[in-house]
Amino acid sequence: MAGAVQPADVVIVGGGIIGCSVALELAERGVRPLVVERDSVGSHASGFAFGELLPWWGRGIPGPLYEFGQRCLAIQLDLQPSLKDRTGIDTGFRLTDALSVVVTQEDHDTLLRRYRWLAERGAPVEWLDGPALRAIEPRLAPGLAEGLHVGHVGVLEAYRYLLAVAQAAERQGAVIRHGSVAGVCLDGDRAVAVRVGDEIVPCGAVVIAAGPWSGDAADWLSIPVPVRPLKGQIVRLQMDGSPLSTYVGWRDYYAITKADGLLWTGSTEEDAGFDDTPTATGRDEILLGLSRVMPEVAGAGIEGHTACLRPLAADGLPIVGRAPNQANVYIATGTGRSGLLLAPGIGRAIADLIVDGSADWDIAPFTPARFR
Ligand SMILES: Cc1cc2nc3c(=O)[nH]c(=O)nc-3n(C[C@H](O)[C@H](O)[C@H](O)COP(=O)(O)OP(=O)(O)OC[C@H]3O[C@@H](n4cnc5c(N)ncnc54)[C@H](O)[C@@H]3O)c2cc1C
Repeated sequence: MAGAVQPADVVIVGGGIIGCSVALELAERGVRPLVVERDSVGSHASGFAFGELLPWWGRGIPGPLYEFGQRCLAIQLDLQPSLKDRTGIDTGFRLTDALSVVVTQEDHDTLLRRYRWLAERGAPVEWLDGPALRAIEPRLAPGLAEGLHVGHVGVLEAYRYLLAVAQAAERQGAVIRHGSVAGVCLDGDRAVAVRVGDEIVPCGAVVIAAGPWSGDAADWLSIPVPVRPLKGQIVRLQMDGSPLSTYVGWRDYYAITKADGLLWTGSTEEDAGFDDTPTATGRDEILLGLSRVMPEVAGAGIEGHTACLRPLAADGLPIVGRAPNQANVYIATGTGRSGLLLAPGIGRAIADLIVDGSADWDIAPFTPARFR
């Protein structure tokens, strides 16, 4: 019937890596998901992210994100080749190492604590002196005296990863459509439809995966969804000589040579609201920071400069689970700096909750109910 709106089993608000990963997992379980994306797939952080899958440190580690991140990287090892088989899209996934270097006494204390904590858990870490660091990466500054080396870090191309997940989900039966979700229609403690522009789209369940915009759902559902945008910038450089042999980081700044042959450098953490414009201040902050540990960065040519917005929850942990006051509404956001890494685990956990009523994962620390 012309103009009729088909009901979906599950409507997913947001076509970023989280929404598309939930869609893929649901479609693989025989559920018909409808992803509603108001811009285009990959037009926000999921398409512009740096592309490292690093489960060793960051917000929530030490803490509940350690085990979860490890499990997510393990899934990625199977998922990445299977995406290529299923869609023909090569995400450029590979495993590499990371060096995190010491410049100040404060860095020394932080990294040594991190090293000991990881070593106690059997992580593939080493504490290296300056010559050992430079034997791995000769471009490091001669004055650097110490640093942490960790193995088992994933690298991929973010945009291609998102496209591959979206396409795999579609091939499995998911539908991805354009539209802006303006609200959720509730009947008691159940969602019965979503409002997409002027349309009412009936559904059996709703997943809020709207990245830094997920806070809009607070009004729709009358619960707190405390997520804010945390802006980050990336600068791509043309640097002479051989590619960087590994991922190099100092504090929040990091660099690696990507598949395009450029040195990708990042990143800032800025509270700039929903403004995602790249700025000269952000660019200079990254280049100055990295040139302290890799002086050649200062003379490299700038080939590209982007900015995008991470979804960050009030306590820095992801928000994953059922909404506390609704039987069939789920929230999947707040992934901060690690959304690419965490996406397949979050996708599985939400699909388990929807299909089986419980998840084979410890997602209790991420429950949306913690903000009540
Ligand atoms: C500079 C930078 C570098 C990063 N590097 C890495 C990295 O190397 N590794 C890593 O793991 N993570 C990284 N991240 C983090 C990662 O990008 C994010 O955690 C992840 O992309 C969040 O995915 P998402 O799907 O939740 O959000 P998004 O990608 O923002 O997608 C949300 C989507 O929802 C849509 N939407 C919002 N509201 C509505 C609505 N009402 N109706 C319909 N659609 C709507 C938006 O248009 C958007 O497309 C980086 C982030 C930044 C900023």
